[in-house]
Amino acid sequence: MKRRCEICGKLIPKERLEALPGTKRCIECARSRGTDICAKRSEVGMDPDTYKDLLGAVRS
Ligand SMILES: [Zn+2]
Repeated sequence: MKRRCEICGKLIPKERLEALPGTKRCIECARSRGTDICAKRSEVGMDPDTYKDLLGAVRS
């Protein structure tokens, strides 16, 4: 199964698709633009709601 990032068009690594089957973004875009799905606590290292607040603060 292959999927391209909706932002940059690069192929999303297989490992990322296995960890986050619903993702449409590569890890670089997820980090810079914000993930398109609810991030796992283990991946972000913090509570998902806190992470979203952080992303909102970065965007605004
Ligand atoms: Zn990308």
